[in-house]
Amino acid sequence: MPAITTVAVVPAAGSGRRVGGSSPKQFLHLGGVPLLVRTLVALGRSRVIGGIVVVAPPSAVERTRRLIKHYRLARVLAVISGGRERQESVWLGLQAVPSTAGLVVVHDGVRPFITGALVRAVVEAASRFGAAACGLSVRETVKRAREGFVQATVERAGLWLVQTPQAFRRSLLWEAHEKARQDGFLGTDDAVLVERLGAPVRMVPGLLENFKITTPDDLARARAVVAARGSR
Ligand code: C5P
Repeated sequence: MPAITTVAVVPAAGSGRRVGGSSPKQFLHLGGVPLLVRTLVALGRSRVIGGIVVVAPPSAVERTRRLIKHYRLARVLAVISGGRERQESVWLGLQAVPSTAGLVVVHDGVRPFITGALVRAVVEAASRFGAAACGLSVRETVKRAREGFVQATVERAGLWLVQTPQAFRRSLLWEAHEKARQDGFLGTDDAVLVERLGAPVRMVPGLLENFKITTPDDLARARAVVAARGSR
């Protein structure tokens, strides 16, 4: 068997109850299929991904393993128990990435609408520049407000709303996480940890439909996307 060169780490260990219901949001159904399974199927369809490490809530590792078996998600290499913060979950996931992997893709378990083309674009950019993230350039006027009143209007040129997938040379991502841990720095994505090393992060255009499912509104929007597409 050839060595696996690109491995995805999927943080899916959030308690995610903002969406409503008693189950973490990654297990809620979208068109009859759990959200996390949809994300893993979409990621597994990408030819550039050799394997996937899933990071599950500590209380739902067995449940996640059962789902992976049930849906025959053959690309999944391991399901491991996550941490208190997303960053900690990715760090734990990194420990389970096979040493043959030169590149690591990090993708949120709650973004099921990625395409193979987007994953490929991010992976290609990371193999060229070391690190890459996708996102949408900001089209609306941006203001910073406090207690309901505008403090400043922020120049929007050059601003991006950042998504996952993000991809990194494995050694760079490892170093970035180690430094953040030493410094007690907590970021909301992985690219910021690499930025702190002074290393370049290439931006790649993302997709409007690649939104993160966090609130009941997001779930309704996701269900509408699935209904419009048929069962896909
Ligand atoms: O917290 P946020 O909404 O940004 O979550 C993005 C992704 O990170 C979700 O897929 C969530 O399950 C995951 N996460 C995690 N471990 C945590 C918190 C969030 O894997 N402790």
